[in-house]
Amino acid sequence: MRPLRMVDLELERRFLGPRLEAALNEVLAHTQFIRGPEVSRFAEELSTYLGGTHVIPCANGTDALQLALMALDAKPGDAVIVPAFTYVATAEVAALLRLEVRWIDVSLDHFGLLPEKLEEAYAPNVKAIVPVHLFGQAAPMAEILAFAREKNLAVIEDTAQALGAEYIFPSGERQKLGTLGDIGCTSFFPSKNLGCYGDGGAIFTASDRLAARLARIANHGQDSLYEFAEIGVNSRLDSLQAAILRLKLPHLDEFNARRRAAADLYDSYLRDIPALQVPYRAPWSTHIFHQYTLRVLDGRREALRAYLSERGIPAMIYYPKPLHLQPAYRSAAYPEGSFPNAERLAKEVLSLPMHPFLSEDQISYIAEQVRAFFR
Ligand SMILES: *Cc1c(COP(=O)(O)O)cnc(C)c1O
Repeated sequence: MRPLRMVDLELERRFLGPRLEAALNEVLAHTQFIRGPEVSRFAEELSTYLGGTHVIPCANGTDALQLALMALDAKPGDAVIVPAFTYVATAEVAALLRLEVRWIDVSLDHFGLLPEKLEEAYAPNVKAIVPVHLFGQAAPMAEILAFAREKNLAVIEDTAQALGAEYIFPSGERQKLGTLGDIGCTSFFPSKNLGCYGDGGAIFTASDRLAARLARIANHGQDSLYEFAEIGVNSRLDSLQAAILRLKLPHLDEFNARRRAAADLYDSYLRDIPALQVPYRAPWSTHIFHQYTLRVLDGRREALRAYLSERGIPAMIYYPKPLHLQPAYRSAAYPEGSFPNAERLAKEVLSLPMHPFLSEDQISYIAEQVRAFFR
């Protein structure tokens, strides 16, 4: 059996075959490495995939979040509501812009922010809510959008882990995550569900005005050549990365379906183990399993991880410490105990290998070892 990895990009490369070199060679031939035709074509294709939203490519997912806050005119002293259990980038950009980060606890089931805690997290200086669609399924957007509407707040969706997943409305209607709020942000980091072979990101919005503003801010605030209307940043997706993404986008749904099938198989082996909670599947969302994340309920997570490691099985902890307890973000306003669910998840979660090229043999080997540990 092939050695196990959390993500196996070598198998992906084999799957793409000679088309990959051909796509890269086209860029090498025209040498328009920045703002080449691949970038605008990819933006158009992703826009079509997402149902027609504006797509503004940028340098990475962190920049996407920063650009979103800048385009909403968030100013020092304004606040944003951010889940305490997420990747650091979501909060980092707010802190960099000198915004106040108001943390909110997350659900033990879907790992997204808890809408019933929004009122408590709210203050009059709050400008935006940044829900994160963690591990590949939607935060409870209907409640979040309703609260935002009531208080006149912007919603910036962090879709870095959920590109291709869909929100399911009570009517049964579906809509791609990242297109429900005012602005959606995503990352094309290599291990994401749609990843390039370097850094990349994109921003989505239905608003013509915000789209123009985002594009301008991402390009040094430039209005017309050497006319700088506002202070911007340099944040670009490059042509080589766009060429790779154009090749991979048509496979995104298929790759996500393969992840879902892998998760189904994991579930079938693991769901009857009392000490484990297999990933919850929210009725309001499809799940594209960016991560297959278990909760280890009996306090033996570290022992399980060591046991798996001895048997050649990598397993990762996303995330070992909630953000309100990180040295860089600690404040007297949020002592330990402020967000019991986030703090508990940091001690319980364990993610198993997950990617579109996991074989059934690999999954059953991994799952059998997990079962053996609890036997
Ligand atoms: C990966 C990720 C980001 C940041 O994306 P980069 O492209 O690495 O900057 C932001 N938020 C979440 C939830 C992520 O998983």
